[in-house]
Amino acid sequence: MELEAIIGLEIHAEMNTRTKMFCGCSNDNFAKVPNTNVCPICMGFPGTLPVPNAESIKKGAIAALALNCTIKKHSKFDRKNYFYPDLPTGYQISQYDEPISEHGHLEILVNGEKKRVGITRLHLENDAGKLTHVANGTLLDFNRAGKPLMEIVSDPDLRSAKEAKEYAETVQKLVRYAGSSDCDMEKGQMRFDASVSLRPKGDTKLYPRAEIKNLNSFRSLESAIDYEIARQRELWESGKAPATEQTVGWDELKQSTYLMREKESAADYRYFPEPDIPSLELTDEQIEIWKREVPESPMVKLDRFMKDYQMSEAEARFLSEDARLARLFEDTATATKNPKAAASFVGTVLPSRLAEQGKSVTDSPITTAHLIELISLIDAGTLSNNLAKTTVFDEMMITGRLPGQIIEEKGLKQVSDTGAIEALCQAAIAANPAAVADVKAGKTKAMAALVGYVMKESKGQANPGMVNGVLGELLKS
Ligand code: ZN
Ligand code: MN
Repeated sequence: MELEAIIGLEIHAEMNTRTKMFCGCSNDNFAKVPNTNVCPICMGFPGTLPVPNAESIKKGAIAALALNCTIKKHSKFDRKNYFYPDLPTGYQISQYDEPISEHGHLEILVNGEKKRVGITRLHLENDAGKLTHVANGTLLDFNRAGKPLMEIVSDPDLRSAKEAKEYAETVQKLVRYAGSSDCDMEKGQMRFDASVSLRPKGDTKLYPRAEIKNLNSFRSLESAIDYEIARQRELWESGKAPATEQTVGWDELKQSTYLMREKESAADYRYFPEPDIPSLELTDEQIEIWKREVPESPMVKLDRFMKDYQMSEAEARFLSEDARLARLFEDTATATKNPKAAASFVGTVLPSRLAEQGKSVTDSPITTAHLIELISLIDAGTLSNNLAKTTVFDEMMITGRLPGQIIEEKGLKQVSDTGAIEALCQAAIAANPAAVADVKAGKTKAMAALVGYVMKESKGQANPGMVNGVLGELLKS
């Protein structure tokens, strides 16, 4: 019997708003002392009232539009009731039957061909706290409780772990573009639940699925789905196809899934409309304003970069892939009118330094201001390209200081003074009689030894164009 896998993903992405979803606590709790970023509202004290955060509604709507969803004029919040120690209120405020948006889609590439994946809905909700299991108990940190989340639910359109990963990466890219979430996996800002079931190929009905909870990397998403497909395939092939829906966890060490519980259904949560928050009523006008604010998609940007900056497809793809790099490149290119240099610094120098230091683009100390100043210094002949890419760039990465300041303090200004360069060239000629003889005999390659000598003596600060010119003149005479 030929079996096919039916996979759907729920993606939770933490929105990058200033405050939490329903209270005024800061939304930036990363690395803060546990339980210091809380208030009576997000701790669920009796008598407190949650108030939806306008910024998170807007960010959710713009992400939904970037995922081609329809924004609904009428939506509401609901209580999803369940008990768990990381949930101080005893319920999560989510959106059940009337989410803010639905019916989206996106395209992924599967074996070089475009495949359309449906998005059932994007809804808003708040996050729970964080449990840390230690040797003799469990620690609770509520700093994360109440942070704004969007949950993006796909249609069961995915057929392999690879497709699921491709889809999740595309969502990450689009949501980052929308500016709604940084989707930083290391910081837990993006998490996946994957529903997996099998069915005989050609069958149209859906069979009981296993939902793999809380996958927090693309790699574990792919491995867990592959494992679950293989597990269910064995059951089907031995005539014991799964009969009930299950919730399973992923054991990263054992690389296997394990049963957590029989899957809960909507009825188990006793959803009811959140009585403390009025329904969300949006005007056509508001929705139109948001539509105009959706940034250019990475796919459109890719084509435009190739056209506007005469880039190769690979270069344009790299620079358009990540919204933050794309912005850095384009702002720098526009300000310096030197897109070639901007592409080289943003597309090559910066990523290799970040990789060396194990940093992501979000942690990068290099801003547009750094790059504009750096390229302007090179273009003005004040700084050599070589020093800009090495000593000066390294210093910017470590200290975050601006390049002008660095070359001033370190005395790295390029030497473009004719007298000084001539003196260095004379010294090079005197010290390298063999190379001089070769050049005079027509072996122009020997020039490199003379230029190299000058560059070394000047600690890389001599203007290489001028060195070549002056040496040529001196050797002619
Ligand atoms: Zn709070
Ligand atoms: Mn959820």
